[in-house]
Amino acid sequence: MTYSQVPKKWDGEADVIVVGGGNTGIPAAITAHDKGTKVIVLEASNGMASSLAMIAGGTPFTGTDLQKAEGIEDSPDKLYEEAVKVSGGDPELWRALADRQEEVYEWLKSLGAKPEKVLLAPGHKVRRSIKFEGHGPALCNILRNALKKSGIDVRYKHRARKLIVDNGRVIGITAESGDKTNSFKARKAVILATGGFCQNLDIVKEFGPQYADLVPTAPKTHQGDGLKMAMAIGAGTDGLGLAVCPSMPVGAETLQFVNAGIQGGITVDRYGKRFGNEATEELGTYTEKHKICLDHDPTGLHITVSDQAIKDLNEPPSTTTREPIYRVDTIEELEKQLGIPAGNLKATVDEYNSDIKKYGYDRKFGRRLQGMYWPDLPVMKLDHPPFYAVKNKICLTSMKGGLKINAKCQIIDQFGDVIPGLYAAGEIAGGLERIPHHYYTGRMTMQAFTQGRIAGDVAADEPGS
Ligand SMILES: Cc1cc2nc3c(=O)[nH]c(=O)nc-3n(C[C@H](O)[C@H](O)[C@H](O)COP(=O)(O)OP(=O)(O)OC[C@H]3O[C@@H](n4cnc5c(N)ncnc54)[C@H](O)[C@@H]3O)c2cc1C
Repeated sequence: MTYSQVPKKWDGEADVIVVGGGNTGIPAAITAHDKGTKVIVLEASNGMASSLAMIAGGTPFTGTDLQKAEGIEDSPDKLYEEAVKVSGGDPELWRALADRQEEVYEWLKSLGAKPEKVLLAPGHKVRRSIKFEGHGPALCNILRNALKKSGIDVRYKHRARKLIVDNGRVIGITAESGDKTNSFKARKAVILATGGFCQNLDIVKEFGPQYADLVPTAPKTHQGDGLKMAMAIGAGTDGLGLAVCPSMPVGAETLQFVNAGIQGGITVDRYGKRFGNEATEELGTYTEKHKICLDHDPTGLHITVSDQAIKDLNEPPSTTTREPIYRVDTIEELEKQLGIPAGNLKATVDEYNSDIKKYGYDRKFGRRLQGMYWPDLPVMKLDHPPFYAVKNKICLTSMKGGLKINAKCQIIDQFGDVIPGLYAAGEIAGGLERIPHHYYTGRMTMQAFTQGRIAGDVAADEPGS
């Protein structure tokens, strides 16, 4: 059965049912609640299993107090134009995000989020990526506390399973809790905010087989439940199967080392050889990086090597906290520790340093600059011990595409019509990116917060039954 029958008896009833209490679901729930609607949140885990807790970068916002204090000129229009160009995504969806995100920033601050720094993020032309104090975990706490304070009815350990449809309209949803299946009535709408499907190998194999061997680092509850439920009743998709595949230190699957690594050094393979210009958009950022690394070595293994001078650059300009994994006094020692054939890495570094000294740039791959985080800084030699290295691999963190929605976050079916009573927001929703190897950095958290607010707002205004 593609959807559940209308039950004889409901186990719970609200105007709006929000499925998934994460980065998107909580803003959606609070927004709808603040408009006077009764909301129930169904959350599969016993708390909040949000990938917001794991974020490595900042979240882009325009017109912020931090930008103003530093004299950075920015606007929703600038963000919109840039985002549509870089992402190839649906202009209508981007317009809605660009127009709403400034309000979302203020709303987050009103909940207690403390903006700390404004940084340049890959793919952006303007410094607008906001790093909040305490980063992802603090933002999760802030959202969780706001949810608790709101008094909204939250049903933890309730894994939503099937939509309930009557006369073509979504009127509720079933959820498993222990060995019981409960039915919840949604008088106005159901908002799906269940995140992506990185952790469901069957769906990954079906829609993004090229990612099937990558290590998924999203929360275990990113099983694609919402996607399946909506597709089962005819929902369309947009960019389904496109993914964000960043380079993460080996061990990142334990999420202990998500923020480890150093930007700005050289990248070598398991034999100590460079295989591209690390300062280009391609190898220097998410864009194309996974493809280049995987084309070079199907396991995706690659090693970043830096020295003290480069490590010193990493705080504060780059967005992440960077802690090295290998720290040694000589390149020869690094070869030993990394298991690189003796002499290989030394030859690579010697050639690189010698080119920069003689010609001012690296002739092998034409690297002239330090890279994305330092767009104007000429390339630096690696000759300030100690040396640092991090072994990385390409991981699967999030899905870039998903359900087809319109600017109001209403789900669109296979024939282009709105499915009455059904919304999707956050990572489950597609349409913002359509270029396979590009990623407009940080937009996923911005999308989650902002589409959550939009979906909550619009769903609360539905006439209701
Ligand atoms: C390691 C890592 C690093 C990242 N770094 C960045 C970054 O730097 N910048 C950026 O913008 N983005 C980043 N992302 C992506 C970003 O964090 C996510 O896209 C975003 O937080 C997703 O928000 P969401 O609300 O859609 O999902 P989540 O916040 O993950 O919430 C989904 C919720 O739905 C629940 N759920 C799932 N299925 C069900 C069900 N059937 N019934 C009930 N509940 C269910 C889950 O338990 C979870 O609580 C990163 C992701 C990862 C994994």
